[in-house]
Amino acid sequence: MASPPAVSAASPTSWPDLNGGERGALRELLVHGPMPRAEIARRLGISRTSLTRVTRELVEHGLVSEGAAESNGSAGRPGELLHIGPHGRSFLGVNLTSDRLFAAVTDLEARVLVSHDEPLDSEGVGDVVAQIGRVRERLVEGRTDIAAAGIALAGDVVTAAGRQVVTESPFLGWRQVALAALAEQRLGVPVATENDVRCLTAAEHWFGVGAGFESMALITVGVGIGFGLVVDGKVVTGGRGKAGRLDHLPIDRDGPLCEYGHRGCVTAFLPNSAIVGAMRTPGLDYETVVDLARTDDPAAVRAFRDAAYALGVLVATLANTFDPEKIVITGEGIAVAELARTAMDAAITANLHPTATPVTLDIQPFEFAEWARAAAVLAIRTCLRF
Ligand SMILES: [Zn+2]
Repeated sequence: MASPPAVSAASPTSWPDLNGGERGALRELLVHGPMPRAEIARRLGISRTSLTRVTRELVEHGLVSEGAAESNGSAGRPGELLHIGPHGRSFLGVNLTSDRLFAAVTDLEARVLVSHDEPLDSEGVGDVVAQIGRVRERLVEGRTDIAAAGIALAGDVVTAAGRQVVTESPFLGWRQVALAALAEQRLGVPVATENDVRCLTAAEHWFGVGAGFESMALITVGVGIGFGLVVDGKVVTGGRGKAGRLDHLPIDRDGPLCEYGHRGCVTAFLPNSAIVGAMRTPGLDYETVVDLARTDDPAAVRAFRDAAYALGVLVATLANTFDPEKIVITGEGIAVAELARTAMDAAITANLHPTATPVTLDIQPFEFAEWARAAAVLAIRTCLRF
């Protein structure tokens, strides 16, 4: 029988200072689920003796427990598994859009314990930080407090000299904002910030459809077009936080213009506003065009087909460039992949390298709550320094 975990001398809600081996073991259990000691030692390339020290520390912090013997399928003694918990730590995730704040508190395994969303009171940095503080207090009321927080937003986030800075967030009108440091002052716990699509990609890579993959790509479709890449097990950020910008890739030189004057680029076809614009009918909104396409309105069907073709070219381009094991498509404009799947598949086939492996696509329904959860995963990953 496993003994109950010792309670850490520090506050049980705070994150302990773990060494590399301890963080590595914890990550293996988080991403791949319960497993025997021998398996973790093999994955980390450390001896059973070293692993004993590692697990003892994790058990003392309440982060890992032993138990629930696994039948090994033979007559031998079943091996005990290491599990996550019962740790008592929770993590706050906040996703900022141009006009709304989405928040979630999760446990260490990224299960949402409570969530909330509300309109942004203001776009002022100080006001947003204060609002995040109020939302935290509301969410953790009567519960355990949080160990760390993550904030996701559209825009570029770079880390220089140990400081995370939002270099530009067009939706909020921010430039050079040290959001993580400001939020840390307000919340009193470690805070990380990240581009929202990259954050979602990282969450899918640890706790979603990409769990355990060394390479994956994620495309979000909707108001804008976003990209997230995992290569060799790492989320790619690029030298200046701008990696994966394919939203102005040329598609059709006879196509419409985007706002930068490119003729027939991805942004001229694929965003929700481009689909609405293709209708050439004033007063329509995106939901109406979706409804029209569902009832086989020819102009709406064509707008979605053209958008889906651009999406297919993007998928093929990512597949040709990075050879990902999986490509995930999601976002508030995900209807394009459902309404015009044939056009998307045709574009993938036409643009995929002749010797490429067929693409494994995962088309996911979109929920804003998922982005707040992804921001909580950012907090978890930051605690694990990953
Ligand atoms: Zn363009």
